[in-house]
Amino acid sequence: MHTIGHFINGQVVEATTRSQAVFNPATGQAIANAALADVAQVNHAVAAAKQAFESWSQVSVLRRARVMFKFYELLNQHASALADIITREHGKVHSDAMGEVQRGIEVVEFATGIPQLMKGEYNSQVAAGFDLYSFRQPLGVCAGITPFNFPAMVPMWMFPMAIACGNTFVLKPSERDPSASLFLADLLKQAGLPDGVFNVIQGDKVAVDALLAHVDVQAVSFVGSTPIAQYIYESAAHHGKRVQALGGAKNHMVIMPDADLEATVEALMGAAYGSAGERCMAISVAVAVGEVADELVAQLTAKTQALKIGNGVDNHNDLGPVITQAHKDKIAAYIAQGVAQGATLLVDGRAHPVSAQAGYFLGGTLFDHVTPEMRIYQEEIFGPVLVVVRVPDFASALKLVNDHEYGNGTSIYTADGAIAREFVAGVQVGMVGVNVPIPVPLAFHSFGGWKRSLFGDQHVYGPEGVRFYTKVKAVSQRWSAPQKGNAFTMPTMG
Ligand code: NAD
Repeated sequence: MHTIGHFINGQVVEATTRSQAVFNPATGQAIANAALADVAQVNHAVAAAKQAFESWSQVSVLRRARVMFKFYELLNQHASALADIITREHGKVHSDAMGEVQRGIEVVEFATGIPQLMKGEYNSQVAAGFDLYSFRQPLGVCAGITPFNFPAMVPMWMFPMAIACGNTFVLKPSERDPSASLFLADLLKQAGLPDGVFNVIQGDKVAVDALLAHVDVQAVSFVGSTPIAQYIYESAAHHGKRVQALGGAKNHMVIMPDADLEATVEALMGAAYGSAGERCMAISVAVAVGEVADELVAQLTAKTQALKIGNGVDNHNDLGPVITQAHKDKIAAYIAQGVAQGATLLVDGRAHPVSAQAGYFLGGTLFDHVTPEMRIYQEEIFGPVLVVVRVPDFASALKLVNDHEYGNGTSIYTADGAIAREFVAGVQVGMVGVNVPIPVPLAFHSFGGWKRSLFGDQHVYGPEGVRFYTKVKAVSQRWSAPQKGNAFTMPTMG
């Protein structure tokens, strides 16, 4: 089996003292070994990035944009090969992997506009012969720590923005599907990115902790589960770094009685079970308002039973396997817990024939009559499990969403503009869909949740990405004769 190595200073580095098997979730077979970095290798990567920052930060913004243009072209040419890698190590269906790659490419496309995005602000003549301007400069070495569920897209939420802004980058991808990051590193090299500007460190907590404590790392972007996000936020901040740490989710879809039920159910099925529910923006709670519940549940039951599940290389499948055997067992334990706490199990994914196959497959699961006290309601399951909560009216639905500890995404399906508007205004969630199931903002907006779905204040990519990866410098300048008079009072203008 080959070793999936690091990418440091433009070279693949395979030497490793520790490694971990990488599996194809559709077969359950080990297909490679991922190197697990030690502290010395992390230090090596950060040193390379620090060295590269000296020259890369001085490269003109136009040239930085042109590297992004070339990278964009290469990504489009090689999108299908990248999706193959994602399907092999993550398990998601190839067409779904192509969607992930496309959403990553769109961030690169946005980053090509960096000359416009980094424009500063200028006030001429704030006093006689006196100008004031502000502009943005890169931070230095930035680190990214990413989850298994989007091995190409989530890294591309981060490094295209960081690098276009003039920073250098060290990526620590998930050890469960590490190959996509090396593929991206190779394309960046082909695009003409100088060695050391983008580095990949494969690894686990050892590598993450070394990055968090490293004196030369200026900023940390993290995406993953909430307990780790909180740890990353606290640790990186303790070490004086800028940090954005995006965590887990429990996304609700509110279905009003006036919604177009057929369209709503179609949207809900994809949002709940697509990618085997392993999306931070997956809908995992359907909130049925009033009399819509019985018909909604009847339609969902039929469609959940009919889900096509199998190897992601076959685009006819609706969903593939989950990521590991341990994760499959954890999801199955949640299903048992739901039954034990009194929820009505309408479709049991554990009983689906696919669950007995080799690989980490589970059928779709549907629960009805779920209540807020149940763990299957409170906790992120991150699998193909949808729970239905019945509420009497809109006010109860809004309160339910707002009382949940997570606030990543939510959506409402309704034909009533006034209700939709009230929902948008009052819901305590960072990303909201109105008759849109998965409201992931496009690359020219920014992505981020509220409450325990995000620690830090800047969202990722888009305009907030530019702000996160740069710091502002404000310059007051006078070229005419210096002002005369008493210099001991607080200076004022005008
Ligand atoms: P995870 O938290 O287990 O791992 C994320 C990263 O943290 C990985 O690179 C991993 O190596 C590292 N890590 C794990 N344990 C660590 C520890 N103890 N100390 C330091 N680093 C550690 O998450 P995952 O299982 O890979 O991904 C799924 C989770 O990510 C879900 O909770 C999902 O909601 C979340 N997610 C959130 C978003 C978002 O935008 N909010 C997007 C995608 C995924």
